[in-house]
Amino acid sequence: MRGIDLSGRIRFLDTTLRDGEQTPGVSLGIDEKLTIAQGLDSLRMDVIEAGSAMTSEGERLAIKAIANSGLNAEICSYVRALTSDIDIALACDVDSVHLVVPVSDLHIKIKLKADRESVVRMAVDVTDYAKEHGLIVELSGEDASRSDLDFLARLYRAGIEAGADRLAFCDTVGVLVPEVAAEIFSRFSRLGAPISIHCHNDFGMATANTIAALRAGASQAHVTVNGIGERAGNASLEEVVMALESLYQIDTGIRCEDIYQLSRTVARMTGLLVAPNKAIVGENAFTHEAGVHVHGLLADTNTYEPMHPESVGRKRRIVLGKHAGRASVELAMREFGLSVTHQQLDEIVARVKELGDKGKRVSDVDLQSIADTVLSIQMEPKVKLEELTVVAGNTVTPTASVKILLAGNERLEAGVGVGPVDAAINAIRRAISGVADVRLDEYHVDAVTGGTNALVEVWVTMAMADRKITARGAGADIIMASVEAVLNGINRLMRLEEEDIAKCRKA
Ligand code: MN
Repeated sequence: MRGIDLSGRIRFLDTTLRDGEQTPGVSLGIDEKLTIAQGLDSLRMDVIEAGSAMTSEGERLAIKAIANSGLNAEICSYVRALTSDIDIALACDVDSVHLVVPVSDLHIKIKLKADRESVVRMAVDVTDYAKEHGLIVELSGEDASRSDLDFLARLYRAGIEAGADRLAFCDTVGVLVPEVAAEIFSRFSRLGAPISIHCHNDFGMATANTIAALRAGASQAHVTVNGIGERAGNASLEEVVMALESLYQIDTGIRCEDIYQLSRTVARMTGLLVAPNKAIVGENAFTHEAGVHVHGLLADTNTYEPMHPESVGRKRRIVLGKHAGRASVELAMREFGLSVTHQQLDEIVARVKELGDKGKRVSDVDLQSIADTVLSIQMEPKVKLEELTVVAGNTVTPTASVKILLAGNERLEAGVGVGPVDAAINAIRRAISGVADVRLDEYHVDAVTGGTNALVEVWVTMAMADRKITARGAGADIIMASVEAVLNGINRLMRLEEEDIAKCRKA
């Protein structure tokens, strides 16, 4: 497999904002689309498919905003084979169009109620029209994997003659297999125009099919962040890029170390949670449970990691429980950047086992607080909650008032929000503003037990300046658990800042 022949660099077209946004239940606002586009651009995507201009006014505003935001990437709109679609795309100031025509008889007859010849004519006419108006054209066959390949070749040739700059082959319902992809692309890569591969993941084959096509001569891969997309999704950006980089030693030109951050942004903005076992970006992709693996990892991380977590902007996580031994705790301490003596390590291990015996999973936060206690770096909290009142209901704006103690001084503040949790957190942030400007980057709730009396666990990712931490709160009251998590986070951030200042003074 090594020794893959790729004359010329592989290009990437990201369609998170088009095919990804077609995921059931997903709808992104203009600012969100712009943020994701900027993330894709700094990753160095070649083409960003920003949306389908004909969809709606909001979609057009977003595409236009992206096209005029000074990104390096080529900005593209999806269009059908209609000159009116080209006009709408032009009005959005895009550089290129992904011009999609159905090519399988199933799609041509049932969906379009047309015949092959009229499809070729439409494709040629609209390609011609788009070229006349200065657009880059990627002529794309929809449902290509179920089409008559001789007909498809004829359509592609007609498109090239009409001036199409690139071609695309869409495995619209994800039925391609790698062997067939290889056969097809060794044929179509000789047509005289660069050709893209667009895969769906209905059988979990999207990444494998994409790579097989690239190896056989495809020059561009269509991908989405986290593999989001219609039904089972599209070929995932992180999988295709990291497989090429790590398994085929190909320099993709992508800034891989920013992949994880963009994955989190897309998950948060789309509301599509990433499965814990998802390759590359899933919660568990670089998490190790205590046991024999940790001994290996301590000696050499290559023993149980096929790539370094840092290569995609992540960190290794060690999860501890009652099976935790000295080695796993030691490795976890190393990941925290803490140095401990033998005696301290024994004490931390004993406390971890005690928690594990009670059937608890020992999270990073738990371990950090155990380590803090043992290393006696636990200090009085800077911020303490004295009183909290929250009002919510169907006829009032959720409002919260808080009284906190901040370094011994009482502060009283109120805040409103979209819900009671938001209101409470806003009130706290106002109460500490001027002293600590913290940002809440992520908020996540787990119901630990079932029912409306469930015990909930709240996780927050918070940041102050360029430091980021995770904190936790738990309880039967979701508002109090959220407030506890946020206060824990604020206290840790303020303490870390104090330590930094102390270190600077020493130096
Ligand atoms: Mn698609």
